[in-house]
Amino acid sequence: MRFKLFNIREDEKPYAYQWGQTNGHEIECTEEDLTLDNVHTLSSFDGVSTQQLFKFDDRIYEALKDVGIKQIAGRAAGFDMFNLDEAAKHDIKITNIPSYSPNAIAEFAVCRALELIRNINKINKKVEHQDFTWDETVIAKELRSMTVLVIGVGRIGKVSAQLFKGFGAEVIGYDPYDQSLSDIEYVQSLQEGLSKADLITLHVPANEETTHIINEETIKYMKNGAYLVNTARGATVKTNDVIQALNSGKLHSVALDVYENEFAYFSYDYTDKEIEDPTLKELMSRDDVLISPHIAFYTHTAVQNMVEISLDSALEVITTGYSENEVQLSKV
Ligand code: NAD
Repeated sequence: MRFKLFNIREDEKPYAYQWGQTNGHEIECTEEDLTLDNVHTLSSFDGVSTQQLFKFDDRIYEALKDVGIKQIAGRAAGFDMFNLDEAAKHDIKITNIPSYSPNAIAEFAVCRALELIRNINKINKKVEHQDFTWDETVIAKELRSMTVLVIGVGRIGKVSAQLFKGFGAEVIGYDPYDQSLSDIEYVQSLQEGLSKADLITLHVPANEETTHIINEETIKYMKNGAYLVNTARGATVKTNDVIQALNSGKLHSVALDVYENEFAYFSYDYTDKEIEDPTLKELMSRDDVLISPHIAFYTHTAVQNMVEISLDSALEVITTGYSENEVQLSKV
């Protein structure tokens, strides 16, 4: 069979070609997005995989059916770029990768938490200026003396909780829908969790309930000088409220791997280009903010899993009409 992978990055290619060789299928890779203009190139292919972040044109599903394609295998956990109703109408099955490496994201959350607690940003800036002194601006806490609140104790939150426990932190969890991790204490309200925590790490999905779960009102419940890490989704944090809390000292410092208006910027090279978003510019300029481009997932293990699982799912759909990774309308 022939499979075409769109939006391919160099780091994904070896895993794709290796999968083809191992399973006896032909692989073609392109950096292009899958669009109405190039969908006709799929007439000689059996399977499709994409890694597009923005929404597909709703007409793509009919166009895929017309060229004999039965599926799109997304190479990410998110599936908000697909219109599942339109896909179903044209018998196009959409698969995602629900879990490619929770450790990748959890380890990044812990890494950023340690950087915040140890004031690494401030130490680096001092050293840049050849200031090698020790003072109150860089004295640190130790994780074993801190309470960490994990908001959303699912696949990634569970690993994150265990890693923080490994450092000796007292870990508490807030998750109204899953309280299955036996070795942490669950709080029954967000307010209770926020009021007990020295450091808060977000691992919830973005939905109506979690949009701006961190905002001016909820920040009021936090301890003075709390730390915040967001590796979940940008929409969960009201950025301007966080900036105000940093200005007032309510929050000590924050690490944001995701940002409300990230879509125009993250994953693109803006070297020598003007950043027009004043909030992003402010976040980048502050020494109490660590900002990174939605990169927590980005490990060799995760990329290999994303490529291989997407192709496995594509093959399953084509050969059996079923994949356990099929995104059902009821999952939305
Ligand atoms: P998951 O579905 O396994 O876990 C999410 C947990 O959040 C579930 O246990 C659910 O019960 C809980 N939850 C839902 N609503 C809640 C609420 N209102 N309050 C508290 N808990 C709530 O998801 P996951 O795979 O662990 O992913 C977690 C987050 O990480 C998602 O937002 C995902 O998009 C994000 N993510 C980020 C990156 C990155 O590179 N930064 C990569 C992958 C995933």
